[in-house]
Amino acid sequence: MDTIVAVATPPGRSAIGVIRLSGPQAIDIIRALVCDDSFNPEPNRTVPKTIVRESGEPLDYALVTHFEGPHSFTGEDIIEISCHGSPVILRELLDRIQRLDGRLAGPGEFTLRACQNGKMNLTQAEAIRDLINAQTDAAAVQAARQLRGELSVALRPAKECLIEVIVRLESALEFVEDDLPAVQVHEISAQLIGVQQSIQELAATYSSGHLLRDGLKVAIIGRPNVGKSSLFNRLLRLDRAIVTEIAGTTRDSITEAVSLRGIPISLTDTAGIRRASDRIEEIGVERSHQAMADADLLIVVIDGSTGILPEDSSVLAEAANARYLVAVNKCDLPAAPDLENQLGDLATVVHLSALTAEGLENLTTAILEPFGTVDSEGVGLLVTDSRHYDLLRRTESALAESLASLRDDASEELVLVGLHNALKFLGEITGETTTEHILSEIFSTFCIGK
Ligand code: GDP
Repeated sequence: MDTIVAVATPPGRSAIGVIRLSGPQAIDIIRALVCDDSFNPEPNRTVPKTIVRESGEPLDYALVTHFEGPHSFTGEDIIEISCHGSPVILRELLDRIQRLDGRLAGPGEFTLRACQNGKMNLTQAEAIRDLINAQTDAAAVQAARQLRGELSVALRPAKECLIEVIVRLESALEFVEDDLPAVQVHEISAQLIGVQQSIQELAATYSSGHLLRDGLKVAIIGRPNVGKSSLFNRLLRLDRAIVTEIAGTTRDSITEAVSLRGIPISLTDTAGIRRASDRIEEIGVERSHQAMADADLLIVVIDGSTGILPEDSSVLAEAANARYLVAVNKCDLPAAPDLENQLGDLATVVHLSALTAEGLENLTTAILEPFGTVDSEGVGLLVTDSRHYDLLRRTESALAESLASLRDDASEELVLVGLHNALKFLGEITGETTTEHILSEIFSTFCIGK
């Protein structure tokens, strides 16, 4: 095993910058860096040390911490050097460590080593990635639960039951001449149906879990001056977009992140989709169309005080190809006489005022409702990762195949094929049966230094 190194803090200037080393040469490397062959850092103690350049000049006065393997994050000797957070110092130190035989770590390689050394299973490693990437508090709560190992605990009874059934069928194959007695077939079917139900229940939490982790893309569209930018600012709770009474103020789409009831929303204020009069506006309109195509939901804003004008009708016609709701803005002003009639055929309509914030709670409900709301307070464990969801679905269909074989009186061998597959898929979730290839794909989604 070689010794890996990475900067563990984000790029740029900061109070401190942390460099991490993990592997058998970590101690030798720090000795060379502090120019002291007898330096023996006591585990779990932080000591101040002068890091020295190759020339003998001091590079930085840093804090050095030793986490001794196997009781460390990776299971190997880890040295953490907290330097001053200057990119120049960190770059020099990183170069120096590479000349001392340290290798730059790939994305997630520290966590991969933790997995390989049995410090955590794959779902826990993925939870670390999700915790770092969490966009809202509720998503961080879910990642922390998974980090505690709750998903593997939730899967354990299903795995144990599968193993029990497999052992039973394998021994029947070896020792019993005749087919399984009907009573046993009945018992085994009941056990497998139980497993199937528990897997189905877990898989069903994905729609909420996915929403919590990945959130939604929402685009605000409408003709000029209906109040799109005002609504955008109101939802963000800050003055991000410029609001004026001059039509066409927003010439480019703006996207910002906002949390609505714990769900991360990527909200885009579009520049409008009317015919462009110059090249800049044309690009803005193109980007609006792009944002519309990418969005999970469109909010079509209409000015309630003017009612639906022909320009609004063409926006509504465009939105009809996607999932959308209608926000009837400016409800603080007298409504256009024919408004209710005009709104008659439209599906989801919310009356609001971006100016006074009236109706905003109803809008939030209407945004989240079609995606299955998540009560982020006090929810149970949710499946948040598409990889886990996919494997749960595959487990489910492997079990369905075995159950069908049992019903059809097929041979035990055939029943066993599905059961072994189901067990393999469950093992892939926690990493016991995950191939090297898949592991490297998963860890490539991690950040460097973790
Ligand atoms: P956009 O062009 O659709 O982005 O519209 P803006 O957000 O720039 O708003 C256009 C004009 O309508 C501005 O003068 C806003 O102050 C005004 N406006 C926006 N929302 C409301 C509202 O709810 N009530 C009232 N009375 N005026 C609003």
